Amino acid sequence: MVTCPSCHREVADGFAFCPHCGAPIEVAAPAGEERKLVTLLFADITGSTGLADALDAEVVRDLMSEYFTIAREEIEARGGTVEKFIGDAVGARAV
Ligand SMILES: [Zn+2]
Repeated sequence: MVTCPSCHREVADGFAFCPHCGAPIEVAAPAGEERKLVTLLFADITGSTGLADALDAEVVRDLMSEYFTIAREEIEARGGTVEKFIGDAVGARAV
């Protein structure tokens, strides 16, 4: 059990945010570890399967290549890092 730093109510262990007021709960990390708030992004192209069926493979490849380049540039411009591209999806994080 921890105490919320904002509303000072008790919060059960394991909560990252106070269920009463929504404030982040700071929990001491075990020695050698560090707790961080991170932002995760998962983006997927809607209708990509239909698009791939309707276009020539080379056109789809060029479109996807351009999409991956733009996605990486936009993510990195905002301090993020692309973790992986999976098919037409991109997974990224920012710390
Ligand atoms: Zn609270």
